[in-house]
Amino acid sequence: MNPNNMETTSFWQGETCEYCGGQIIEKRVTLHRKVKGEYVLIENVPAGVCAECGTRYFAANVLKTIEESVRGRKQADRKVVVPVYAF
Ligand SMILES: [Zn+2]
Repeated sequence: MNPNNMETTSFWQGETCEYCGGQIIEKRVTLHRKVKGEYVLIENVPAGVCAECGTRYFAANVLKTIEESVRGRKQADRKVVVPVYAF
């Protein structure tokens, strides 16, 4: 790999899904997490998504940032009320 191209190359480029072998495409996704009994959404999370089966992959540093955001001191950017329906 040409190191000069690192910045423009997707983190997931050339990676394949460990379940189905499909191509992984970088996307921004919204994550749902339950924190202290409350659902939180984390928007715009960079993820690798399998084009075949839809399995999501997250880089370790992305996961770390998410954990720090949801349980750390960071104030939520805005709050969204999520309706919950009991079956
Ligand atoms: Zn797959």
